Amino acid sequence: MIEVKNLSKRFGDVEVLKQIDLDVKQGEIVVIIGPSGTGKSTLLRCLNYLEVPSGGEIQIGDVRVNAGKVSKNEIHQLRKQSSFVFQSYALFANKTALENVAESLITVWKEPKDKALETARKLLVSVGMEAHLEKYPAQLSGGQQQRVGIARAMACKGEVILFDEPTSALDPEWVEEVLAVMKALAKQKQTMIVVTHEMQFAREIADKVIFMEGGVIVEQGPPSQIFGNPQNERTKAFVARAA
Ligand code: ADP
Ligand code: MG
Repeated sequence: MIEVKNLSKRFGDVEVLKQIDLDVKQGEIVVIIGPSGTGKSTLLRCLNYLEVPSGGEIQIGDVRVNAGKVSKNEIHQLRKQSSFVFQSYALFANKTALENVAESLITVWKEPKDKALETARKLLVSVGMEAHLEKYPAQLSGGQQQRVGIARAMACKGEVILFDEPTSALDPEWVEEVLAVMKALAKQKQTMIVVTHEMQFAREIADKVIFMEGGVIVEQGPPSQIFGNPQNERTKAFVARAA
């Protein structure tokens, strides 16, 4: 369902992503691990065209773009295929939880407001936020804000949800509730690509783990391989340090 070929990204002279190939099947949970500064966020951002790739091809669902020659319309179509959960939540401060989740349904999908709010309510209930529908982000804990962020991503109706370290800005007490919501999503076979430092979580939910370092995919495989029997020395060293 997702096919990335030869994806590269340069910032000036620095090649941050080097010829990345990536395949993700429908319903698959792919977890990306690796040291910081390795290009994990850049990879996710390129998939959503938040960052413009320097080269390569991206296909998500039935939308395929070639980084060399891509039209505005193709970028728009590609963006609709995925949604993002950011480390920093990135909620609208002047909108309630309900309005934050309904926003893309109204602006991107052109749904009538009542229908969008009703869908948003259901999604917020599904992430355990029924008591906080009318609250503004500043009235919510970090864990609650991130659950709104996840409900908002679910509302986008894309093929895949991209998570960039969704728990790393949270106080430790809020991490588990956010991971629990992600586990529930994984059970429903929502296709997800998750960058995380939560190794235990990765081990539990991933169908495939990708270890990235220095802008390349060093090794990928099932969690049993990456955590239990890594084939590459650098994977071995990283996993040993992270454990
Ligand atoms: P990770 O998410 O694995 O920590 P990033 O994808 O954020 O890594 O960053 C990879 C490299 O790209 C880093 O060296 C970072 O400094 C650089 N980088 C990221 N974004 C930009 C940018 N907008 N301009 C210049 N360099 C950037
Ligand atoms: Mg990052």
